Amino acid sequence: MNSVKNALYVVNKLIRNGYQAYFVGGCVRDYLLKLPSNDIDITTSATPYEVMRLFKAKLTGEKYGTVTILDERVNIEVTTFRTEEGYHDFRRPDKVVFTTDVKEDVTRRDFTINALLMDEKMTVYDYVGGRDDLNKGLINAVGDPKERFKEDSLRLLRAVYFQAKLGFKIGEETFINMKENASLITHLPNERVLDELFKILSHEHQLMALKTLKETNLNNYLPGLKKGIDYIVSNITFPLFIDAFFALSFTLNKTVPRAWKFSNFHFNKYQKTVELALKNTIIDELVIYQYGLEISLLANKVLFILKKQDNEKRKIEALFHNLKIKSVTDLEIKGSDILALTSKKQGAWLKKLLAELVELVILNKIANNKDDLLNYAREKLNEE
Ligand code: ATP
Ligand code: MG
Repeated sequence: MNSVKNALYVVNKLIRNGYQAYFVGGCVRDYLLKLPSNDIDITTSATPYEVMRLFKAKLTGEKYGTVTILDERVNIEVTTFRTEEGYHDFRRPDKVVFTTDVKEDVTRRDFTINALLMDEKMTVYDYVGGRDDLNKGLINAVGDPKERFKEDSLRLLRAVYFQAKLGFKIGEETFINMKENASLITHLPNERVLDELFKILSHEHQLMALKTLKETNLNNYLPGLKKGIDYIVSNITFPLFIDAFFALSFTLNKTVPRAWKFSNFHFNKYQKTVELALKNTIIDELVIYQYGLEISLLANKVLFILKKQDNEKRKIEALFHNLKIKSVTDLEIKGSDILALTSKKQGAWLKKLLAELVELVILNKIANNKDDLLNYAREKLNEE
């Protein structure tokens, strides 16, 4: 587990060498909430090159003044006190300016609960009202929310992510400004939105966060997800797995929008699930053979959530387990065996006949042994 205690040596050494240094951001918030931290952020008056002289470290963000300490136990990032200027792409500052005043460093941060400082004695310094918000369970922007969301529109989704993670309420003014500026997320690269969405979906308070996506109208700018989010907010009382969330949303949307940069694997999985769920047929042996176990289960889950089918998880798993064959290559005869029975040339007829044999074997109408299959094929050929 990551903990500020494991990174205390870094703060202490910086101080011993005459620099100011504090824990900052998520790790202070999580420490006060007694939660484990993903990573430890330290802010210091030392420049990146001064930090590199003191520790085994690598420069991971020169422009932003960030150095990563090489420590196998914990991920520690040390960043020089800085302010940011000029945001023209709704995401990144044009310019980063190093400063010696730690107060300037905290006021550039996104939310008050993420802008607390803590020194080597675990004394907390709060210049933005973050302590109070932490106690009340509130997510509030640092400073003017409108400005902060315009500077960097990723913060709109980060607010929702912290809600998903912590179960906090979003402060009123921050919420109003999220709603007014929701469309700004269209300026973000799709990959960044998807990353943030994955984070939102994989945390405990997913349903609360989805409600916020709806109420702030952020869901209008998430291609193909609006109907899904609306449905979940009105009908579901348990968090969904990520796959179920996307499969349900895209089924209601009738297709997977190309806008999302899914891997081919995920795109195909969702698209096939949508295709199957839209058919709304009983998921029997043949469907399971054709679509595979994962997609069959996912489609059933979607249809269950939509109240169109019972939850057939166990039945589908058992059917899959008992499938006589899982692919055409499992048939006890090959195309060449059938060709040997006839003077006909290879063609579509052969593929069709093999598919028919597959179906008969799957449905237990014929045994998967060479003699029975050859007899059937022979009769079929004689009929013609
Ligand atoms: P997590 O638990 O997900 O790591 P975190 O608060 O540590 O949450 P990080 O993305 O690791 O979030 O960022 C570390 C800190 O950097 C934040 O707590 C915040 O102070 C600041 N920060 C990160 N991203 C932004 C942003 N887009 N705008 C302003 N400040 C930010
Ligand atoms: Mg972090």
